[in-house]
Amino acid sequence: MLIVRPPSLLTRALNRMTWDFYGEHRNVYLTFDDGPTPMITPWVLDRLGEADALATFFCLGRNVDKHPEIYRQILARGHSVGNHSYSHLKGFRSTVGRYMDDINLAGNLISSKLFRPPYGRIFPGQVKAVLQHYDIIMWDVLSIDYNTGLTGERVLQNVTRNVKPGSIIVFHDSEKASENLFFALPRTLEFLSDKGYRMLPIPAEGLPGREHMVN
Ligand SMILES: [Zn+2]
Repeated sequence: MLIVRPPSLLTRALNRMTWDFYGEHRNVYLTFDDGPTPMITPWVLDRLGEADALATFFCLGRNVDKHPEIYRQILARGHSVGNHSYSHLKGFRSTVGRYMDDINLAGNLISSKLFRPPYGRIFPGQVKAVLQHYDIIMWDVLSIDYNTGLTGERVLQNVTRNVKPGSIIVFHDSEKASENLFFALPRTLEFLSDKGYRMLPIPAEGLPGREHMVN
């Protein structure tokens, strides 16, 4: 007798999130989490501008509340934005209702159909609820720039050794990550340009071919 084991809830949830756009020819997607942050986000915008690169900023609602002018600058320069919740809640410690309330609060400030879970942690039940309104954008390349125990050189290597066509790369425009970011970002941009990569934003209106039940 053939027994087909149904995929677990967790596997199904993981499969419904977006981890990369592999197969795309020489395109990569830079993403920046946890901003907007004074001094740091504007610096990132200048470096991206010099490199002719566009990116996606997964903003925290509480930071958009504090720094709406930087949020507007991100958009004015042609970049995309995503919702990274209002207060950087830990998914594993929140009920689905509380988790969605925090995302919706950020959604009043951030115009986007893209969501990235804080800490990259999210329960299957929360995935289901979030997918009603958002595409969940994860990553395949983590710079680990937020780890102050790593050197900038190591952070750079985390990206350059793992990037491939279609990769989604994570940096942080936060104070904690700034020392590593200041070292690694200009060098990453140079590396990617030299390799002929185009750096593109993930469309804030959501991924093509996905329906959201937004009322
Ligand atoms: Zn974050």
